[in-house]
Amino acid sequence: MADFDVDLFVIGGGSGGVRAARIAAGHGARVMVAEEYRMGGTCVIRGCVPKKLLVYGSHLRHDIEDAAGFGWSIPSATFDWPTLIANKDREIARLEAAYTSNVEKAGAHIVKSRAVFEDAHTLRLADGKRVRAKHILIATGGWPNHGRVIPGIEHVISSNEVFHLAELPKRIVIQGGGYIALEFACIFAGFGSDVTVIYRGENILRGFDDDVRAHVRAEMEKNGITILTGCTVDKVDKHGSEYTSHLSNGSSVASDQVMFAIGRHPSVANLGLEKAGVAINPKNGGIAVDGFSQTNVPHIYAVGDVTHRFNLTPVAIREGHAFADTVFGNRPTRVDHADIPTAVFTQPEVGTVGLTEAQARAQFTNIDIYKATFRPMKATLSGRDTRILMKLVVDATSDRVLGCHIVGDGAAEMVQVLGIAIRMRATKADFDATMALHPTAAEELVTMRTPTARYVREAAE
Ligand code: FAD
Ligand code: NDP
Repeated sequence: MADFDVDLFVIGGGSGGVRAARIAAGHGARVMVAEEYRMGGTCVIRGCVPKKLLVYGSHLRHDIEDAAGFGWSIPSATFDWPTLIANKDREIARLEAAYTSNVEKAGAHIVKSRAVFEDAHTLRLADGKRVRAKHILIATGGWPNHGRVIPGIEHVISSNEVFHLAELPKRIVIQGGGYIALEFACIFAGFGSDVTVIYRGENILRGFDDDVRAHVRAEMEKNGITILTGCTVDKVDKHGSEYTSHLSNGSSVASDQVMFAIGRHPSVANLGLEKAGVAINPKNGGIAVDGFSQTNVPHIYAVGDVTHRFNLTPVAIREGHAFADTVFGNRPTRVDHADIPTAVFTQPEVGTVGLTEAQARAQFTNIDIYKATFRPMKATLSGRDTRILMKLVVDATSDRVLGCHIVGDGAAEMVQVLGIAIRMRATKADFDATMALHPTAAEELVTMRTPTARYVREAAE
């Protein structure tokens, strides 16, 4: 259509935007992608990937410590943070280049610029250039949210800065009890930092299964992490290179860095959404979309973190792909957000899919719980004080396994595969009929014969 410069303009070159651009170009659309920072977005540049590299680096401390029981004597190991950061940066630059070339190879055009709406079909770039697009995909992701403004907030870093610290902090205070706070607490503890987690509620990882929450907390505490609950950081003072975090309970903690990881906001500000007439979902502050990721303006769609549905990379990718198939592939595709497997890369890590015990007991009449905690075989010789948790939540009426929750090394890998069984509506009998693979930790999942608890909900009077 001569009136339009492109068939699709994608705002944001992150997980969702990149996938949508590549698939739409593959369907023959003329595609332009605007990225104001670095191609790859949060996941690649300052999220999942650099985080996991730091987790690997940090976890090596446990492996070195564990080696002695197996006969290894390793001279006192030293760790160099700048080396790890430089190597991580090199890998991220390689991935950024790969993302750029994959988008270009697919036939989409990248502009390294911020893009904002001028009207419902027109985007304005940083140099003032205007682009008219038939369809527009908003895939601008999210941004760390520091919450209310407290005195000294300017001293507080977020996950954006933590990847670029010039040196490893000897002591760090981290506020938050969710994914990012706990993953970084474990990363820093592994590297030898003295870590204090400050969480406002009763226990960390709200929304996860209660046994998982208790187990992770105990394991983190065994690893020397201090977890203070029921309080917030209300003020941060700086004296030279040291910070003091003043807590709502009247106490204070000294450290070399203070990090907040208290959630992320969808990136909707200053995008010109009002000029395009795009509505925000008042419930979560993200862009309001339907099951096809379509906004209230029919030719404008939004995917990924900017919609604030499930802020995970595979979800953004799936939504971006479904959008491209729907609009340019003549294949209307809804994304099914049920039973999304997820992991928290604490040490030990959490893997979970499906319903928690509390959710299942609220929704079903008869619930059986199968739960085991045990010492991993490796710990028998390493002497490490750690336990694995495995838990299955079963609908006793249909025998269907509704949820799986694991805390232990390899939990994320196990839960990715268990996710298939849960989606296929596997029953507890299917688990039991599956031969164990010995010796593994995962064999426990198919050998838990007797419920550890049964719950029958009384019928309402
Ligand atoms: P993003 O990847 O954030 O991409 C949005 C892009 O849009 C950005 O590159 C931004 O620069 C660009 N942009 C914004 N506004 C404009 C504009 N106006 N013009 C041009 N460009 C613009 N998820 C997992 O599944 N597993 C993990 O282990 C995991 N770890 C994480 C660790 C951390 C520290 C963080 C912060 C997040 C993590 N996530 C993880 C979440 C994951 O990174 C996000 O869910 C995912 O990146 C969302 O993809 P997206 O495409 O919606 O947005
Ligand atoms: P989360 O939503 O996971 O956790 C936020 C934490 O901050 C919660 O403990 C919350 O407490 C607390 N909090 C919220 N507001 C305040 C406040 N005003 N004062 C004090 N504490 C507060 O967010 P994250 O920032 O950790 O991560 C953002 C998202 O990124 C995650 O939800 C996830 O979707 C994604 N992510 C995924 C990862 C993975 O897949 N492994 C890793 C990292 C991020 P409360 O529970 O009481 O509300």
